[in-house]
Formats: sequence, structure tokens, C-alpha cells
Amino acid sequence: MEKLTLAVEGGVPVRKEGFPAWPIFGQLEEQLILDVIRSGKWGGTGTVHSPEYTAKLPEMERRFADLHDAAHAISVVNGTVAITVALQAAGVKPGDEVIVPPYTFIATAAAALAFGAIPVFVDIEEDTLLLDPDQVASAITSRTKAIIPVHLAGAPANMTRINEVAAVHKLRVIEDAAQAVGASWEGRRVGAIGDFGTFSLQSSKNLNSGEGGIILTNNPELAEIAWSLCNVGRSRSGAWYQHDRIGQNYRMTELQAAIALAQMSRLEEQMLLRESNTKLLTELLGQMDGITVVKSDPRVTRHANHLYMFKLDTAVTELIDKTDFIRKVNAEGIPISFGYVPLNRNEAIVNATRALTGEDRSYNCPVSERLSDKEVVWLSQNVLLADEQAMHDIAAAIRKVIESY
Ligand SMILES: *Cc1c(COP(=O)(O)O)cnc(C)c1O
Repeated sequence: MEKLTLAVEGGVPVRKEGFPAWPIFGQLEEQLILDVIRSGKWGGTGTVHSPEYTAKLPEMERRFADLHDAAHAISVVNGTVAITVALQAAGVKPGDEVIVPPYTFIATAAAALAFGAIPVFVDIEEDTLLLDPDQVASAITSRTKAIIPVHLAGAPANMTRINEVAAVHKLRVIEDAAQAVGASWEGRRVGAIGDFGTFSLQSSKNLNSGEGGIILTNNPELAEIAWSLCNVGRSRSGAWYQHDRIGQNYRMTELQAAIALAQMSRLEEQMLLRESNTKLLTELLGQMDGITVVKSDPRVTRHANHLYMFKLDTAVTELIDKTDFIRKVNAEGIPISFGYVPLNRNEAIVNATRALTGEDRSYNCPVSERLSDKEVVWLSQNVLLADEQAMHDIAAAIRKVIESY
């Protein structure tokens, strides 16, 4: 086949049209925000000016919990704080160790370091890019108190095995479900499969309110502690100036709850569209030489498709440099990106860990490092909200660049 001239070399790009802008919003968001403004109740506490107004935060929390088969939801300022609070409510103390995968957003580990707990990195599975439960046991010490599986890209981690390991060693499990709104593992929604689940409503996430976070749990005592930690140590049943523990003010506002409620009503339709586009893209890329699509465990009964990840085959990375590949595909009009640098190699985390432990810890995470350095590339969720032609364009651009090497 005759090689087409790459866009980086002056050729015609495969795609000139953009991808859907994010977020998607309309009259519903405007109406609910207006309700909040007119009510005079703008915060998580405070008075209501109009008696007919029903507060949005409790309604949003209720709906979010229902959406994830969870009994309790606590809204907070963001997904990072959600993890910190869940860890603290779960009884993790400064100096305790928390097992996390290295291939994740920095918040997963920083949320522990924020109060002096120590992240311990356990590598990911080659096929799914999720925490490898078989390696967790060997990282457990007398200081280990919790495991944070990350439902990366919207794919639930192996919660069955992780809960088993946690039960044997009496550890708490906090699901970092920031990317996994609406996902399920063996028919059960994520978020309360472990002791806690934490979500992010930050701008890039599939359900977004600008900023925001949610903590879910089925355990009423843990829910009370988490609520208290987010409400300056108050108790739900206590007096206003009664503070039973040291907490912060991590409350979300009514304005954010209004946006989240409106966005929730768009969620299912968007999830279905991402699902059908993911299926098509996987069919197109699955048959392409040099490319491997990241696998989903058959027990993932719903994938939230926050990111679409695929890999350059190890065999072709001798020939194809990941950064060069990304540059060339970008020039064809397709916004693929490099993705995370493993956290075990992040200087800030290494330094913070050294300061807390007095040790130079090194972690064996060859899968995360190789995949990050050479193989994995991402597409973001808004790309999956485009039409079918866009999926064909993505595949055509990737094929064109692969064939140029
Ligand atoms: C976005 C994200 C977070 C942090 O959420 P923020 O709301 O941005 O603080 C934590 N973990 C993962 C995996 C994320 O993607």
C-alpha cells in the first residue's frame, strides 16, 4: 500500500473536525442554579429564604448513593479530600501504610501523605492496568492499615480478590472511584463494595460539578465519622457548637449540588454513547497490527469509560517511540495523550516518604514503568461522545501513523 504523507510532514490530517466540548449542559443546569440563588441557601449550612425550596445537597447525595447501591453518601469539596477523609475515618493514622497502585493520579497517594500516612506501591496487572491483587499480600507489613484499589479509566479493579486479601489481614478497603461513576463489578455498583468509595466531580470527570467529591459507604458508624471529619468535628445529632473530634470544613455548596443533579440526568445517555463508541473503537483497533487494546475483566459488568486506553505492542516499541507516536497522531487531528508517570518515580512522593520514614524505599513496579514509558496512550471521555465517523477517523489516524514507521 502506498504510504500517505503524515500531517507532521505536511500531509493532509485525517480529521479536521474537533471533538465534543466538555461539559455538556443546558437549561436544566441554568434552572437549578437559579433555584439555588433565589433560595438564599447557597452553602451546605445556612438558612433558606424561600420556604418552598428543598435543599439540593441531600437530594444529590441520596441519588448518588442510590446510583451506586450504597447506603450513605457524604459530599465534599473534591475527590482528593474524599480519599483523605475516608482513610482517616477508616482509622488510618500518621505513620500507617496504605497500599496503592503506582499507575494513578497523584491524589491517590497524596491523600495519604497529606496526614502523614505512607503510600506503598504495588504494581498493576499487565492486561487491565489495575492493582494486581496477587501482589498485594507480599507488600503487607505490621503497619499496613488499608488498600486503595483505583478503578482506573472507569474499570473496576478486582474487588473480589482485594476484599478477600483485606479480610485475611484485617485491612480497610477504600475504592478510588474518581473515574468510575456508574461502573459495576460482578453486577454490583462500585463505591460501597469496599469499606468506602470515593468519587470526584472535578471538571474532567464523567459526572462533574466544576469541583466536588463524594464519599460512599454502607457502614453507618463509618459514615458518621466521615461526616463529622468534613463538618469541623460536629455530630449530626449534636449541638451546633459541639465538636467531638478535630475535623475540617470540607462541605460542598448547593450550587455544585444543583449542577451535579442536572448532570446526573444526562449520565445514562452519555454512558450508553461512550459504550457504543468504545465497542466500535475496540473492534477497529483490535484488528490493527502493533496495537493492543487494554482488556476488561469479564467480571466488569459495567465500565464507566472515563478514559480509553490502548497500548503499543512491546514488539513495536523498538521501532516506535511513544512520544513521537503521540505527536504524529495529534497532528492527524486526534487528541491522544501520554498519561500518568508512575507515582513510585514521582520526586515529591519519594521525598515526602523519605521524610516520614527516614528510609529510601524503592518499589518494584516494572509493569507500570514500561507501560507508562513506552506503551500506553489515552483518549479522554469526551472523545467517546463523538459520532461513529469520529471513531473511524481515530482508527484511520492510528493506522496511518503506525504504517509510517
Ligand atoms: C480526579 C482523580 C482524583 C482526585 O479528584 P479531585 O476531585 O481532582 O481532587 C483522585 N483519584 C483519581 C484516580 C482521579 O482521577
